[in-house]
Amino acid sequence: MDMQVSFLDRLFESGLLIDTGVDGLYGRSGEFEDVIAAFERLIDRTGGGDGAEAIRFPPGMNRAYFEKSGYMKSFPQLAGTVHSFCGNDHDHLGLLQCMEEGNEWTKEQKATDIALTPAACYPLYPTIAKRGPISMKGGLYDLQSYCFRHEPSKDPARQQLFRMREYVCMGTEAHVTEFRQTWMDRGVEMMKSVGLDVEIDVANDPFFGRAGRLLANNQRDQNLKFELLIPVTSQTKKTACMSFNYHQDAFGSKWGLNLEDGSVAHTACVGFGLERIALALFAQHGLDTKLWPENVRKVLWG
Ligand code: AMP
Ligand code: ZN
Repeated sequence: MDMQVSFLDRLFESGLLIDTGVDGLYGRSGEFEDVIAAFERLIDRTGGGDGAEAIRFPPGMNRAYFEKSGYMKSFPQLAGTVHSFCGNDHDHLGLLQCMEEGNEWTKEQKATDIALTPAACYPLYPTIAKRGPISMKGGLYDLQSYCFRHEPSKDPARQQLFRMREYVCMGTEAHVTEFRQTWMDRGVEMMKSVGLDVEIDVANDPFFGRAGRLLANNQRDQNLKFELLIPVTSQTKKTACMSFNYHQDAFGSKWGLNLEDGSVAHTACVGFGLERIALALFAQHGLDTKLWPENVRKVLWG
């Protein structure tokens, strides 16, 4: 933990991250953003030839879709919902008085139709399902979104609002598993090209509670999730900077994603944790990008 706190302090001191008073909620400097933009261009160069359809959703999603996704079954501890004041003049006076007295005022807020996006791909599945059958050649989508997860921490690599760049593939089992393998290979090469030490390992999502342990074990046993690990605050406890997820036909069945031959689509997604990758680069090469190794600068900025 000390290493994490000291790295966070150094990031604040250098101005790369800006303290907001909330753990895991930070401003970013122009230099920090420039690293993310440069890394996203590397992603574009790597995946651009595949012809993915680019879609950008805002960081909030339709709450009805969020509910149907089953997120609250698996990860209630991470979820965030948007609530607003929905009262009249009288209620407003009560609200101001409550705040004035320093009492808990948020209880009266009502849930809106928006939930915070927990992963960039969540709004995609219902969107594609609405379009009708997916071509037998498969569907490929390029996404990026701020995502929210309620996991406050002093570890700068564990933020509450962070960006995920994702490619999502829908098609036959063979198609989507090949897509995932291709990106595992590409991910390793990309990280090596910017001077990062990488390792890929099987992983599981942080499913909630006792029932969650079973789900996590099942995910591992079936090799459904891999992560690309890079040292950020520790050489021994490395940080997952990319993940490679195979959902089998779970999302296909849930959302009614069918291929043109009527079969249920299999899906897979690969996610880049953009802040984590930037932090891994700062941890490895130092806090001043001008002093980064020439070959790394060349890959990122040409
Ligand atoms: P996941 O859906 O958990 O596999 O997340 C996809 C990617 O987002 C991970 O591989 C991480 O790189 C990144 N990520 C997940 N959680 C966080 C977080 N709390 N802060 C920053 N990045 C995260
Ligand atoms: Zn995803």
